[in-house]
Amino acid sequence: MRAVPRRTKIVATLGPATESDEAVDSLIKAGVDVVRLNFSHGVPEEHKARAEKIRRIGLENNRHLAILADLQGPKIRLEKFRDGMIELAVGDRFCLDTECPDGTGDGTRVGITYKKLPQDVQPDNILMLDDGRIVLRVDSVDGARINCTVEVGGELSDNKGINLKGGGLTAEVLTEKDKADLKTAALIDADYVAVSFPRNAADMLQARRLLDAEGCAAGLVAKIERAEALDNLEEIIAVSEAIMIARGDLGVEIGDAKLPAVQKEIIRSARDLNCVVITATQMMESMRDNPIPTRAEVFDVANAVLDGTDAVMLSAETATGRYPSLTVLAMSDICLNAEQHSRAIKSRHRLDDTFERVDEAIAMATMYTANHLDVRAIASLTESGSTALWMSRISSGIPIYALSRHQSTNRKVNLYRGVFPVYFPTIHTNHAEANREAVDLMKKRGTIADGDLVIITKGDLMGTGGGTNAMKIVEVGNMPDFIA
Ligand code: PGA
Ligand code: MN
Repeated sequence: MRAVPRRTKIVATLGPATESDEAVDSLIKAGVDVVRLNFSHGVPEEHKARAEKIRRIGLENNRHLAILADLQGPKIRLEKFRDGMIELAVGDRFCLDTECPDGTGDGTRVGITYKKLPQDVQPDNILMLDDGRIVLRVDSVDGARINCTVEVGGELSDNKGINLKGGGLTAEVLTEKDKADLKTAALIDADYVAVSFPRNAADMLQARRLLDAEGCAAGLVAKIERAEALDNLEEIIAVSEAIMIARGDLGVEIGDAKLPAVQKEIIRSARDLNCVVITATQMMESMRDNPIPTRAEVFDVANAVLDGTDAVMLSAETATGRYPSLTVLAMSDICLNAEQHSRAIKSRHRLDDTFERVDEAIAMATMYTANHLDVRAIASLTESGSTALWMSRISSGIPIYALSRHQSTNRKVNLYRGVFPVYFPTIHTNHAEANREAVDLMKKRGTIADGDLVIITKGDLMGTGGGTNAMKIVEVGNMPDFIA
Protein backbone atom coordinates (compact mmCIF):
# COMPACT_ATOMS: atom_id res chain seq x y z
CA MET A 1 0.00 0.00 0.00
CA ARG A 2 1.25 3.44 -0.79
CA ALA A 3 1.88 5.72 2.19
CA VAL A 4 -0.67 8.47 2.61
CA PRO A 5 1.05 11.78 3.29
CA ARG A 6 -0.01 13.63 6.42
CA ARG A 7 -2.22 16.55 5.38
CA THR A 8 -2.21 18.54 8.60
CA LYS A 9 0.97 20.55 8.95
CA ILE A 10 3.12 20.78 12.06
CA VAL A 11 4.62 24.05 13.23
CA ALA A 12 7.38 23.68 15.81
CA THR A 13 9.11 26.41 17.79
CA LEU A 14 12.88 26.36 18.12
CA GLY A 15 14.55 27.09 21.43
CA PRO A 16 17.29 25.91 23.78
CA ALA A 17 16.08 22.31 23.49
CA THR A 18 16.50 22.39 19.72
CA GLU A 19 19.71 24.35 19.33
CA SER A 20 22.09 21.78 17.87
CA ASP A 21 22.23 20.69 14.24
CA GLU A 22 21.30 17.19 15.37
CA ALA A 23 18.23 18.40 17.24
CA VAL A 24 17.01 20.42 14.24
CA ASP A 25 17.73 17.52 11.93
CA SER A 26 15.71 15.11 14.04
CA LEU A 27 12.82 17.60 14.28
CA ILE A 28 12.78 17.82 10.49
CA LYS A 29 13.01 14.06 10.09
CA ALA A 30 10.17 13.66 12.59
CA GLY A 31 8.00 15.69 10.21
CA VAL A 32 8.04 19.41 11.06
CA ASP A 33 6.76 21.52 8.15
CA VAL A 34 7.08 25.05 9.49
CA VAL A 35 9.62 26.27 12.00
CA ARG A 36 8.66 29.10 14.31
CA LEU A 37 11.18 31.59 15.61
CA ASN A 38 9.73 33.15 18.73
CA PHE A 39 10.90 36.76 18.89
CA SER A 40 9.72 36.97 22.48
CA HIS A 41 12.97 35.27 23.34
CA GLY A 42 16.49 35.70 22.06
CA VAL A 43 18.39 38.36 20.14
CA PRO A 44 18.47 38.95 16.36
CA GLU A 45 21.77 37.10 15.97
CA GLU A 46 20.24 33.95 17.44
CA HIS A 47 17.28 34.13 15.07
CA LYS A 48 19.58 34.68 12.12
CA ALA A 49 21.69 31.69 13.12
CA ARG A 50 18.58 29.55 13.58
CA ALA A 51 17.16 30.61 10.23
CA GLU A 52 20.43 29.74 8.51
CA LYS A 53 20.44 26.37 10.24
CA ILE A 54 16.85 25.59 9.25
CA ARG A 55 17.46 26.47 5.62
CA ARG A 56 20.66 24.45 5.50
CA ILE A 57 19.37 21.34 7.24
CA GLY A 58 16.02 21.63 5.45
CA LEU A 59 17.84 21.50 2.12
CA GLU A 60 19.92 18.53 3.24
CA ASN A 61 16.64 16.76 3.96
CA ASN A 62 15.14 17.86 0.67
CA ARG A 63 12.32 19.68 2.44
CA HIS A 64 10.67 23.05 1.78
CA LEU A 65 10.50 24.18 5.39
CA ALA A 66 8.81 27.50 5.94
CA ILE A 67 10.07 29.90 8.59
CA LEU A 68 7.52 31.73 10.73
CA ALA A 69 8.90 34.76 12.56
CA ASP A 70 6.59 35.41 15.49
CA LEU A 71 6.79 38.97 16.83
CA GLN A 72 6.40 39.54 20.53
CA GLY A 73 3.87 42.34 20.25
CA PRO A 74 2.71 44.35 23.25
CA LYS A 75 2.80 41.28 25.43
CA ILE A 76 3.55 42.15 28.99
CA ARG A 77 6.21 39.86 30.29
CA LEU A 78 8.23 39.36 33.38
CA GLU A 79 11.87 40.29 33.07
CA LYS A 80 14.53 37.88 34.17
CA PHE A 81 15.25 36.40 37.57
CA ARG A 82 18.72 36.22 39.03
CA ASP A 83 18.59 32.41 39.04
CA GLY A 84 16.26 31.80 36.10
CA MET A 85 13.28 30.75 38.18
CA ILE A 86 11.54 30.95 41.55
CA GLU A 87 8.84 29.03 43.37
CA LEU A 88 5.68 30.77 44.59
CA ALA A 89 3.29 29.34 47.16
CA VAL A 90 -0.35 30.27 47.77
CA GLY A 91 -0.55 33.23 50.13
CA ASP A 92 2.97 34.51 49.35
CA ARG A 93 3.40 38.21 48.78
CA PHE A 94 5.00 38.99 45.44
CA CYS A 95 5.71 42.29 43.77
CA LEU A 96 5.81 43.26 40.10
CA ASP A 97 8.25 46.12 40.19
CA THR A 98 8.91 48.25 37.10
CA GLU A 99 12.10 49.50 38.74
CA CYS A 100 13.56 46.09 39.53
CA PRO A 101 16.58 45.77 37.18
CA ASP A 102 16.32 43.00 34.58
CA GLY A 103 18.09 39.87 35.70
CA THR A 104 17.80 40.59 39.43
CA GLY A 105 14.32 39.17 40.15
CA ASP A 106 13.99 36.96 43.22
CA GLY A 107 11.34 35.34 45.39
CA THR A 108 9.92 38.70 46.44
CA ARG A 109 9.88 40.76 43.26
CA VAL A 110 10.64 40.86 39.54
CA GLY A 111 10.76 43.48 36.79
CA ILE A 112 8.16 43.73 33.99
CA THR A 113 8.44 44.89 30.38
CA TYR A 114 5.43 47.23 30.31
CA LYS A 115 6.35 50.14 32.51
CA LYS A 116 2.84 51.60 32.48
CA LEU A 117 1.19 48.54 33.99
CA PRO A 118 0.97 50.08 37.50
CA GLN A 119 -1.25 52.81 36.01
CA ASP A 120 -3.51 50.25 34.37
CA VAL A 121 -4.32 48.01 37.33
CA GLN A 122 -6.29 48.43 40.55
CA PRO A 123 -6.61 46.53 43.80
CA ASP A 124 -8.48 43.24 43.32
CA ASN A 125 -7.56 42.93 39.65
CA ILE A 126 -6.42 39.43 38.77
CA LEU A 127 -3.10 38.98 36.97
CA MET A 128 -2.56 35.69 35.18
CA LEU A 129 1.06 34.67 34.67
CA ASP A 130 2.45 32.03 32.32
CA ASP A 131 -0.81 31.30 30.48
CA GLY A 132 -2.74 31.41 33.75
CA ARG A 133 -0.63 28.84 35.58
CA ILE A 134 0.18 31.38 38.29
CA VAL A 135 -2.52 33.74 39.53
CA LEU A 136 -1.83 36.94 41.48
CA ARG A 137 -4.37 39.24 43.11
CA VAL A 138 -3.43 42.92 43.23
CA ASP A 139 -3.39 44.24 46.82
CA SER A 140 -2.12 47.73 46.17
CA VAL A 141 -0.23 49.85 43.70
CA ASP A 142 2.60 51.85 45.13
CA GLY A 143 4.28 54.02 42.48
CA ALA A 144 6.30 51.63 40.31
CA ARG A 145 5.32 48.59 42.38
CA ILE A 146 2.29 46.35 42.08
CA ASN A 147 1.96 44.46 45.36
CA CYS A 148 0.20 41.14 45.00
CA THR A 149 -0.81 38.01 46.87
CA VAL A 150 -0.32 34.62 45.21
CA GLU A 151 -3.67 32.88 44.62
CA VAL A 152 -2.31 30.01 42.54
CA GLY A 153 1.37 29.18 43.02
CA GLY A 154 4.06 27.16 41.31
CA GLU A 155 7.31 27.59 39.44
CA LEU A 156 7.83 30.90 37.70
CA SER A 157 10.68 31.49 35.25
CA ASP A 158 12.15 34.26 33.09
CA ASN A 159 10.10 36.20 30.53
CA LYS A 160 6.74 34.56 31.27
CA GLY A 161 3.67 36.42 30.02
CA ILE A 162 1.29 38.46 32.18
CA ASN A 163 -2.38 38.99 31.34
CA LEU A 164 -4.99 41.09 33.01
CA LYS A 165 -8.06 38.92 33.39
CA GLY A 166 -10.86 40.30 31.24
CA GLY A 167 -8.39 42.10 28.97
CA GLY A 168 -8.58 45.75 28.07
CA LEU A 169 -4.97 46.89 28.22
CA THR A 170 -4.24 49.44 25.53
CA ALA A 171 -0.73 49.37 24.18
CA GLU A 172 0.39 49.89 20.57
CA VAL A 173 0.27 46.63 18.58
CA LEU A 174 3.71 47.01 17.02
CA THR A 175 6.24 48.01 19.63
CA GLU A 176 9.62 49.53 18.81
CA LYS A 177 11.10 46.08 19.37
CA ASP A 178 8.62 44.56 16.91
CA LYS A 179 9.56 47.13 14.29
CA ALA A 180 13.23 46.24 14.68
CA ASP A 181 12.37 42.52 14.67
CA LEU A 182 10.37 42.98 11.45
CA LYS A 183 13.61 44.08 9.82
CA THR A 184 15.35 40.99 11.12
CA ALA A 185 12.49 38.85 9.79
CA ALA A 186 12.90 40.49 6.38
CA LEU A 187 16.65 39.96 6.52
CA ILE A 188 16.34 36.25 7.17
CA ASP A 189 13.70 36.06 4.42
CA ALA A 190 11.00 34.70 6.72
CA ASP A 191 8.15 33.05 4.82
CA TYR A 192 5.58 34.15 7.38
CA VAL A 193 5.53 36.90 9.98
CA ALA A 194 3.10 36.63 12.87
CA VAL A 195 1.65 39.77 14.44
CA SER A 196 0.74 39.39 18.09
CA PHE A 197 -2.40 40.92 19.64
CA PRO A 198 -3.83 42.65 16.53
CA ARG A 199 -7.21 44.24 17.24
CA ASN A 200 -8.36 44.84 13.66
CA ALA A 201 -7.39 44.95 9.99
CA ALA A 202 -5.62 48.28 10.42
CA ASP A 203 -3.13 46.69 12.81
CA MET A 204 -2.31 44.04 10.22
CA LEU A 205 -2.05 46.61 7.44
CA GLN A 206 0.46 48.58 9.48
CA ALA A 207 2.65 45.47 9.69
CA ARG A 208 2.20 44.92 5.95
CA ARG A 209 3.37 48.45 5.17
CA LEU A 210 6.48 47.99 7.27
CA LEU A 211 7.25 44.66 5.60
CA ASP A 212 6.67 46.16 2.16
CA ALA A 213 9.13 48.90 3.01
CA GLU A 214 11.71 46.18 3.67
CA GLY A 215 10.89 44.53 0.35
CA CYS A 216 9.70 41.45 2.23
CA ALA A 217 6.95 39.31 0.69
CA ALA A 218 6.32 37.18 3.78
CA GLY A 219 2.77 36.03 4.43
CA LEU A 220 1.17 37.75 7.42
CA VAL A 221 -0.23 35.68 10.26
CA ALA A 222 -2.72 37.39 12.57
CA LYS A 223 -2.63 35.91 16.04
CA ILE A 224 -6.15 35.86 17.37
CA GLU A 225 -5.54 36.38 21.06
CA ARG A 226 -7.81 39.12 22.28
CA ALA A 227 -11.54 39.54 22.55
CA GLU A 228 -11.56 42.52 20.18
CA ALA A 229 -9.99 40.44 17.42
CA LEU A 230 -12.90 38.02 17.60
CA ASP A 231 -15.30 40.91 16.97
CA ASN A 232 -13.26 41.94 13.92
CA LEU A 233 -12.39 38.46 12.70
CA GLU A 234 -13.58 38.78 9.10
CA GLU A 235 -11.77 42.03 8.40
CA ILE A 236 -8.60 40.62 9.94
CA ILE A 237 -8.86 37.47 7.82
CA ALA A 238 -9.39 39.56 4.70
CA VAL A 239 -5.95 41.18 5.03
CA SER A 240 -3.99 38.19 6.39
CA GLU A 241 -2.55 35.12 4.66
CA ALA A 242 -3.07 33.08 7.80
CA ILE A 243 -4.45 33.35 11.29
CA MET A 244 -3.34 31.65 14.45
CA ILE A 245 -5.72 30.62 17.19
CA ALA A 246 -3.39 31.71 20.00
CA ARG A 247 -5.24 29.85 22.70
CA GLY A 248 -2.89 30.93 25.46
CA ASP A 249 -3.59 34.62 25.59
CA LEU A 250 -7.05 34.26 24.08
CA GLY A 251 -8.02 31.73 26.74
CA VAL A 252 -6.83 33.98 29.52
CA GLU A 253 -8.72 36.93 28.08
CA ILE A 254 -12.07 35.25 27.32
CA GLY A 255 -11.89 32.24 29.67
CA ASP A 256 -10.71 28.77 28.63
CA ALA A 257 -14.21 27.30 28.67
CA LYS A 258 -15.16 29.44 25.66
CA LEU A 259 -12.16 28.29 23.60
CA PRO A 260 -13.41 25.03 22.03
CA ALA A 261 -16.48 26.62 20.45
CA VAL A 262 -14.51 29.70 19.43
CA GLN A 263 -11.82 27.51 17.83
CA LYS A 264 -14.42 25.80 15.65
CA GLU A 265 -15.89 29.15 14.61
CA ILE A 266 -12.51 30.65 13.76
CA ILE A 267 -11.45 27.64 11.68
CA ARG A 268 -14.74 27.64 9.79
CA SER A 269 -14.48 31.37 9.02
CA ALA A 270 -10.88 31.07 7.92
CA ARG A 271 -11.62 28.21 5.52
CA ASP A 272 -14.70 29.90 4.13
CA LEU A 273 -12.69 33.06 3.46
CA ASN A 274 -9.72 31.25 1.84
CA CYS A 275 -7.46 31.91 4.78
CA VAL A 276 -5.00 29.47 6.33
CA VAL A 277 -5.37 28.66 10.02
CA ILE A 278 -2.94 27.44 12.69
CA THR A 279 -4.17 26.02 15.99
CA ALA A 280 -1.69 26.80 18.74
CA THR A 281 -0.66 26.48 22.34
CA GLN A 282 -0.44 23.64 24.82
CA MET A 283 -1.51 21.00 22.32
CA MET A 284 1.04 18.49 23.66
CA GLU A 285 1.99 20.39 26.80
CA SER A 286 2.63 17.38 29.02
CA MET A 287 5.28 16.17 26.58
CA ARG A 288 7.55 18.93 27.83
CA ASP A 289 8.34 16.40 30.55
CA ASN A 290 6.87 13.08 29.42
CA PRO A 291 7.59 10.84 26.45
CA ILE A 292 3.89 10.28 25.73
CA PRO A 293 0.97 12.74 25.57
CA THR A 294 -2.08 12.62 27.79
CA ARG A 295 -5.21 11.21 26.25
CA ALA A 296 -6.80 14.66 26.47
CA GLU A 297 -3.97 16.02 24.34
CA VAL A 298 -4.50 13.27 21.78
CA PHE A 299 -8.13 14.35 21.56
CA ASP A 300 -7.23 18.03 21.37
CA VAL A 301 -4.92 17.56 18.38
CA ALA A 302 -7.35 15.17 16.66
CA ASN A 303 -10.27 17.53 17.21
CA ALA A 304 -8.34 20.43 15.69
CA VAL A 305 -7.72 18.23 12.64
CA LEU A 306 -11.43 17.38 12.44
CA ASP A 307 -12.29 21.07 12.84
CA GLY A 308 -10.28 21.59 9.64
CA THR A 309 -7.17 23.35 10.86
CA ASP A 310 -4.29 23.65 8.40
CA ALA A 311 -1.64 23.27 11.04
CA VAL A 312 -1.12 22.41 14.67
CA MET A 313 1.62 24.15 16.60
CA LEU A 314 4.16 23.24 19.25
CA SER A 315 5.68 25.91 21.46
CA ALA A 316 7.51 25.01 24.66
CA GLU A 317 7.20 21.33 23.78
CA THR A 318 9.92 21.69 21.16
CA ALA A 319 11.59 24.92 22.39
CA THR A 320 12.41 23.84 25.92
CA GLY A 321 10.88 20.37 26.34
CA ARG A 322 12.70 17.14 27.01
CA TYR A 323 11.33 15.25 23.98
CA PRO A 324 11.12 17.60 20.98
CA SER A 325 11.23 15.09 18.15
CA LEU A 326 9.18 12.48 20.03
CA THR A 327 6.52 15.15 20.44
CA VAL A 328 6.49 15.83 16.70
CA LEU A 329 6.26 12.11 15.96
CA ALA A 330 3.38 11.66 18.39
CA MET A 331 1.55 14.68 16.99
CA SER A 332 2.08 13.47 13.46
CA ASP A 333 0.62 10.08 14.30
CA ILE A 334 -2.48 11.66 15.87
CA CYS A 335 -3.00 13.85 12.79
CA LEU A 336 -2.62 10.94 10.39
CA ASN A 337 -5.18 8.89 12.27
CA ALA A 338 -7.67 11.74 12.62
CA GLU A 339 -7.35 12.37 8.89
CA GLN A 340 -8.83 8.93 8.23
CA HIS A 341 -12.17 10.04 9.64
CA SER A 342 -14.84 10.71 7.06
CA ARG A 343 -15.27 14.27 8.29
CA ALA A 344 -11.66 15.01 7.31
CA ILE A 345 -12.01 13.65 3.79
CA LYS A 346 -15.60 14.58 3.03
CA SER A 347 -15.86 17.17 0.30
CA ARG A 348 -17.62 20.38 1.13
CA HIS A 349 -18.31 21.82 -2.26
CA ARG A 350 -19.21 25.41 -2.47
CA LEU A 351 -22.23 24.61 -4.55
CA ASP A 352 -23.97 27.87 -3.76
CA ASP A 353 -20.95 30.08 -4.28
CA THR A 354 -20.20 32.30 -7.21
CA PHE A 355 -16.53 32.34 -8.09
CA GLU A 356 -14.83 35.60 -8.84
CA ARG A 357 -11.87 34.32 -10.74
CA VAL A 358 -11.12 31.78 -13.43
CA ASP A 359 -8.30 30.18 -11.43
CA GLU A 360 -10.61 29.84 -8.43
CA ALA A 361 -13.23 28.15 -10.61
CA ILE A 362 -10.62 25.71 -11.94
CA ALA A 363 -9.51 24.93 -8.39
CA MET A 364 -13.09 24.16 -7.34
CA ALA A 365 -13.81 22.11 -10.46
CA THR A 366 -10.67 20.12 -9.76
CA MET A 367 -11.68 19.34 -6.20
CA TYR A 368 -15.19 18.41 -7.24
CA THR A 369 -13.82 16.02 -9.84
CA ALA A 370 -11.10 14.63 -7.60
CA ASN A 371 -13.60 13.85 -4.87
CA HIS A 372 -15.97 12.14 -7.30
CA LEU A 373 -13.58 10.20 -9.45
CA ASP A 374 -10.93 7.75 -8.34
CA VAL A 375 -8.12 10.31 -8.60
CA ARG A 376 -4.84 9.58 -6.82
CA ALA A 377 -3.30 13.05 -6.78
CA ILE A 378 -3.59 16.60 -8.00
CA ALA A 379 -0.71 18.51 -9.54
CA SER A 380 -1.10 22.26 -9.53
CA LEU A 381 1.53 24.04 -11.60
CA THR A 382 1.61 27.31 -9.76
CA GLU A 383 3.49 30.58 -9.49
CA SER A 384 2.00 32.04 -6.31
CA GLY A 385 0.34 28.95 -4.84
CA SER A 386 -3.12 30.52 -4.85
CA THR A 387 -4.75 27.72 -6.86
CA ALA A 388 -3.40 25.19 -4.35
CA LEU A 389 -4.72 27.33 -1.50
CA TRP A 390 -8.25 27.32 -2.93
CA MET A 391 -8.06 23.59 -3.46
CA SER A 392 -6.92 23.02 0.08
CA ARG A 393 -9.97 24.83 1.49
CA ILE A 394 -12.05 21.87 0.33
CA SER A 395 -11.89 18.79 2.55
CA SER A 396 -10.39 15.90 0.66
CA GLY A 397 -8.15 12.90 1.16
CA ILE A 398 -6.34 13.48 -2.12
CA PRO A 399 -2.87 15.03 -1.99
CA ILE A 400 -2.47 18.35 -3.77
CA TYR A 401 1.04 18.76 -5.15
CA ALA A 402 2.00 22.38 -5.72
CA LEU A 403 4.66 22.47 -8.42
CA SER A 404 6.48 25.76 -8.50
CA ARG A 405 9.74 27.14 -9.78
CA HIS A 406 9.74 29.64 -6.91
CA GLN A 407 11.25 28.26 -3.73
CA SER A 408 9.44 31.00 -1.78
CA THR A 409 6.11 29.63 -3.06
CA ASN A 410 7.15 26.09 -2.22
CA ARG A 411 7.91 27.11 1.35
CA LYS A 412 4.73 29.13 1.74
CA VAL A 413 2.40 26.39 0.56
CA ASN A 414 4.04 23.99 2.98
CA LEU A 415 1.71 25.44 5.64
CA TYR A 416 -1.47 24.62 3.67
CA ARG A 417 -3.40 21.56 4.66
CA GLY A 418 -3.04 18.75 2.17
CA VAL A 419 -0.63 20.68 -0.08
CA PHE A 420 2.83 19.28 -0.77
CA PRO A 421 5.42 21.43 -2.52
CA VAL A 422 7.53 20.10 -5.37
CA TYR A 423 10.31 22.16 -6.89
CA PHE A 424 9.57 22.45 -10.62
CA PRO A 425 12.29 24.63 -12.08
CA THR A 426 11.61 24.44 -15.79
CA ILE A 427 9.07 26.43 -17.74
CA HIS A 428 7.75 24.44 -20.65
CA THR A 429 6.15 25.97 -23.68
CA ASN A 430 4.99 22.51 -24.62
CA HIS A 431 2.12 21.38 -22.41
CA ALA A 432 2.64 17.68 -23.10
CA GLU A 433 6.19 17.91 -21.82
CA ALA A 434 5.12 19.84 -18.77
CA ASN A 435 2.46 17.25 -17.94
CA ARG A 436 4.91 14.44 -18.33
CA GLU A 437 7.57 16.09 -16.17
CA ALA A 438 5.00 16.88 -13.48
CA VAL A 439 3.81 13.29 -13.40
CA ASP A 440 7.38 11.95 -13.38
CA LEU A 441 8.27 14.13 -10.42
CA MET A 442 5.29 12.89 -8.42
CA LYS A 443 6.00 9.32 -9.39
CA LYS A 444 9.49 9.73 -7.96
CA ARG A 445 7.88 10.67 -4.63
CA GLY A 446 6.19 7.30 -4.68
CA THR A 447 2.61 8.41 -4.20
CA ILE A 448 1.46 7.74 -7.75
CA ALA A 449 2.06 4.77 -10.00
CA ASP A 450 1.15 3.62 -13.50
CA GLY A 451 -2.58 3.36 -13.99
CA ASP A 452 -3.45 6.10 -11.46
CA LEU A 453 -5.53 9.07 -12.52
CA VAL A 454 -3.99 12.47 -11.83
CA ILE A 455 -5.46 15.90 -12.34
CA ILE A 456 -3.11 18.59 -13.59
CA THR A 457 -4.00 22.28 -13.45
CA LYS A 458 -2.08 25.09 -15.11
CA GLY A 459 -2.34 28.18 -17.26
CA ASP A 460 -1.99 28.55 -21.01
CA LEU A 461 0.90 30.83 -20.34
CA MET A 462 3.01 28.88 -17.91
CA GLY A 463 5.15 31.13 -15.75
CA THR A 464 2.45 33.76 -15.35
CA GLY A 465 0.91 34.29 -11.93
CA GLY A 466 -2.88 33.93 -11.50
CA GLY A 467 -3.20 32.40 -14.97
CA THR A 468 -4.52 28.93 -14.15
CA ASN A 469 -7.33 28.27 -16.62
CA ALA A 470 -7.20 24.56 -17.34
CA MET A 471 -7.55 21.21 -15.69
CA LYS A 472 -6.63 17.95 -17.35
CA ILE A 473 -7.09 14.37 -16.21
CA VAL A 474 -4.25 12.07 -17.20
CA GLU A 475 -3.51 8.42 -16.62
CA VAL A 476 -0.01 7.77 -15.30
CA GLY A 477 1.98 5.64 -17.72
CA ASN A 478 -0.49 6.24 -20.52
CA MET A 479 0.10 9.78 -21.69
CA PRO A 480 0.33 10.08 -25.48
CA ASP A 481 2.82 12.63 -26.77
CA PHE A 482 0.24 14.73 -28.51
CA ILE A 483 -1.65 15.66 -25.35
CA ALA A 484 -1.46 19.41 -25.16
P1 PGA B 1 2.57 33.27 22.30
O1 PGA B 1 1.29 33.10 21.40
O2 PGA B 1 3.13 31.92 22.57
O3 PGA B 1 3.48 34.12 21.52
O4 PGA B 1 2.03 33.96 23.50
C1 PGA B 1 0.47 32.00 21.48
C2 PGA B 1 -0.70 32.16 22.44
O5 PGA B 1 -0.93 33.23 23.00
O6 PGA B 1 -1.41 31.17 22.59
MN1 MN C 1 0.18 34.98 22.83
